[in-house]
Amino acid sequence: MATDEQVHKVSLKVLVDKEKNKVIFAEAGKDFVDALLSILTLPLGTIARLVAKESNIPPVKFGSLSSLYESVSHLEDKYLRTQTCKEMLLQPRNSMESYCKHVKLNIDDTEPTKYFLCANLNCSIVSGRQLSIFRYQRCRCGNLMNREVFPIEVIPGNGFVNEIATFIICDDLSVLPNVVGTSVSLLRKLGIKDMATIDERNVDISKREVVDILKLSLLSKTPLTDFILEKKDDNFNPINQPQIGIGEKSSYESRKMDVKVLVRKSDSKILFVEAEADFADYFSVCSLYLWVECCTCLMDALP
Ligand SMILES: [Zn+2]
Repeated sequence: MATDEQVHKVSLKVLVDKEKNKVIFAEAGKDFVDALLSILTLPLGTIARLVAKESNIPPVKFGSLSSLYESVSHLEDKYLRTQTCKEMLLQPRNSMESYCKHVKLNIDDTEPTKYFLCANLNCSIVSGRQLSIFRYQRCRCGNLMNREVFPIEVIPGNGFVNEIATFIICDDLSVLPNVVGTSVSLLRKLGIKDMATIDERNVDISKREVVDILKLSLLSKTPLTDFILEKKDDNFNPINQPQIGIGEKSSYESRKMDVKVLVRKSDSKILFVEAEADFADYFSVCSLYLWVECCTCLMDALP
C-alpha cells in the first residue's frame, strides 16, 4: 500500500550553479508554492511543535520559543485558568485552516477545528448561540460547551495561488511569478553567463521535505541550497539564530508590566525573569517581533 509520502509528492525543478555549489532557483507550480506559503499562516505554537519533530533532519530549537512551548507543555493544570488553556497554547488553531487543508503538502498536523455549543439546548436560543472552537469551554449559563455542531463551510479554500501559474523560488525562499524574463534577469543578477555551469535537477518533495524547509528557513538565509545540496554540516546549527530586524520603538512601550529580573553580575546575563500572569499571557500571544523587542528592552533596562 502506498504511503502518504508516495501519494502526496510533487516535483521541483532546481537549477544549481555547479561552480559555486549553490542553488540558483527552483521552478514550481501550485502544489509546492501553496505548501511554502501556508507556512506563513502557522501560529508560532504550531511552528515550535513542527520543528521539534524528526524529519530528514533532526529536531530544531526555534530560538527560545521552543523552550517557551515546552515549558507550557509541562505546566500543571492547576496553574492555568481553565483545562482548555493548555490546548489553546499548544494546539493553536490556524485561522486559514480551511485553505490549508486542501493544500497537497499541508504540514499542519493540528487536529481539525471542531465547533461546540452549550450542552443545554434551550440555552443556545437564549444566549444567542455561543460557539467555541475548544471543547469544555464554559458557556455564559455555566454549563460546559461540549455539544459538537458541524457548520457548513461557506467558502471552501483551495490553497493560495492560481492553478495555472508557475513560480520561481529563490535560494532565500522569495517567490516570484515565472513570467517571461524572470529567470533571465535572475541569472544576469547572479552574474551567471555560461549555461554550461548550470545543472538541472528534479527533486521530489513530500510533507517531510516541506518540514525540512521550514526548519532551514528558521536557521539559514540559503535554505534551498542547504536543503537540495544537503549542506547540513555548515548551516544546520541551532546556535545560528535567525537574523531578526528590530524596528522602531512603538506604542508597545507605553504598556508596562512589572517583572523581576535576576541578573548574573559577572557577565550581566539574564538568568531568569519572574513575572505574574499578565506577562506570561503576553508572551503566549505576542508575535516573535514583539518578543524580540521585549527581550531587547529587558537588556536595555539593565544598569
Ligand atoms: Zn449555555
